[in-house]
Amino acid sequence: MSQYEFVINTMSVSCPECNEVFATQTSFRLPEMTTSLPVESDLHRVLPYGIIRSCLVTICPSCQYAWWTNTFSRHFSLPIGIKQAPEIDSARKFAHAVLTGRKNNFHTLDRAILALNGYWCAKESHQETSKWLILSIQELSAALADSSWEGNRARYHYLLGELLRLNRQFEEAIQEFKLADSTSNLPEDLIINQKTLAQNKNSDPLLLSNEQVKTIFFPALVIPRLMPQELLEPIKTNEQVTENSNSEMVDFGPIQSSTYSAALFPPKKSTALQSKVKATV
Ligand SMILES: [Zn+2]
Repeated sequence: MSQYEFVINTMSVSCPECNEVFATQTSFRLPEMTTSLPVESDLHRVLPYGIIRSCLVTICPSCQYAWWTNTFSRHFSLPIGIKQAPEIDSARKFAHAVLTGRKNNFHTLDRAILALNGYWCAKESHQETSKWLILSIQELSAALADSSWEGNRARYHYLLGELLRLNRQFEEAIQEFKLADSTSNLPEDLIINQKTLAQNKNSDPLLLSNEQVKTIFFPALVIPRLMPQELLEPIKTNEQVTENSNSEMVDFGPIQSSTYSAALFPPKKSTALQSKVKATV
């Protein structure tokens, strides 16, 4: 699947606020994330069209409640001949969602991420982004001022620093970058570089290197090496089980080092291996 291929589907949902049943769009098939896809220094994975991102949010045509599409319950009725979600500009859907979040006192971090997606969506739609940048800074600052939630706060401090740098608020950006310590799990060279750019009053957007994308989106899985032996029970190996039979052993080859990305995208069985398994059965 090329990075420009995607599928938008129409489905029926019911509004959690007023129970109206209506049809809305959802993008259910996106190109897989790879290290060669463009990602900007504000951790924005650049999608080819704003409409793809806009499918993350749904707006009720009756009460204008707007929130993440996956929080609306699917409805059994066909998405034909029923009300449709209002057709509005892709990025503006996120503004409606931020408004719903404020009205309902939803979590500040949700609102911040929605505002950020609105900013990214406006970029992908080739629109003016300054108001989106201000809204994102406002919401993310509010989220970080709220000490009640746990999470990778250091990464959000980096993100806020980068938004402030892009908005030419360099002094504030530097303060935020200082809070982006190693717990952010971001490449150290990235944080140092963005801080230097802020010190040099440079507000240009930047693309991450393939190596940085790999570190952020495909982190290596850390497996503890020590294992208390007394908890283990000897297990018969395949060889012991089949030592008296004539069945052919399946050779799975050398064990590859496990990585997070491998867990996310398990390799497809090779045809050679499949035919060998078949032969054994
Ligand atoms: Zn509604």
